[in-house]
Amino acid sequence: MALSDVGKGAQLTLNEAIQYFNAGIEKAEIYLSPARDSKLQLARCHEMDFLQQQATRIKIDAIQQNDENVANLFLAFECAIGAVRAELLMWLLLKQEKPNKAWDQLISAQIACLDATRAHTGFSHCSDRLQKLQNIEETIFPPQVFLSAGFVAQALECSICRQRYGTCGHLRGKPYMGMFCEVIHRGIQGDHVAIVEVPADKRCRIVSFKTKDGHRDRLSWDITPYAAGETHEDGGPLHANTIFMSLNRYPYLTSSRKVLDTEASETEQAQSA
Ligand SMILES: [Zn+2]
Repeated sequence: MALSDVGKGAQLTLNEAIQYFNAGIEKAEIYLSPARDSKLQLARCHEMDFLQQQATRIKIDAIQQNDENVANLFLAFECAIGAVRAELLMWLLLKQEKPNKAWDQLISAQIACLDATRAHTGFSHCSDRLQKLQNIEETIFPPQVFLSAGFVAQALECSICRQRYGTCGHLRGKPYMGMFCEVIHRGIQGDHVAIVEVPADKRCRIVSFKTKDGHRDRLSWDITPYAAGETHEDGGPLHANTIFMSLNRYPYLTSSRKVLDTEASETEQAQSA
C-alpha cells in the first residue's frame, strides 16, 4: 500500500495503518473533558488536522486503485478524526465563553459520528460516542428552539452519478468508493420555516430574540444592547435572529485553525420575524 507518508517514510501494511490511526484518535480522546488544559487540547486539535489529511491521502490512493473497502474505511477515519476534533473544539470554545461556536462543534461531532457509522461497518462503535454527545447536549447546553425550512425542488440529483435520484440505484447516506451519496436539490423554492422538536439539522435554531433591553442570546442568555436606530415595540411582534439553513454538509472536515480563526459562522444567518 502507498502508506509511505504515514510512518516516517516506512511502508505500512493496511493493519499497521489502521493501528496508527486508531492510536492517534485514542491519544486525542484522553483530552475530551473540560478539566483538561486548553493548550494541550489545542495541540491535539492540530494533530487531528494532520491526521485527517493523512486519512484523506490514503483514501484518494484507494480510490485510484479502485479499492472500495479501503476507500470507505478511510472515509470513516476522516469522520471519526473529525468527531474527536470537533468535540475538543467544543470544550475549548466553551472555556473561551463562545457558546454559539461551541454548539456548532457539538453538532459537527454528532454529524461526524453518524457519518462514521455509515461509512464502514468497522466504525459501529461510533454510535456509543454519538450517544455520549447527545448526553452532553442535554446536560451541558440549555434547551434550544429548533427550526426546519421547507422548500420544493424541481429536480433531485444523485451526487455520485449525477442522474435523477431514485432511478440510479444509489442510496442517500450510503458510501460509494469513499464518498457519501447525497441528494442534490435543483431549482429550489422556499416554502416555509417551522419550529420543530426534532430538526434534521440542529444548527438550525433561534439564536437570539428581542427584549426591551436588547437582543438576548439563547445560549449565553446575555443581552446585546440595541444599536443606534434599532427599536423595540412593547407588545409588538416577537423578533428573533435565526439560522434556518446550514449549507456545510461536512462541518467536521473544517480544520481547527479555520474554526478558531473564523469569527463569522459558516451557516447562513437571516433575520426573521
Ligand atoms: Zn446515482
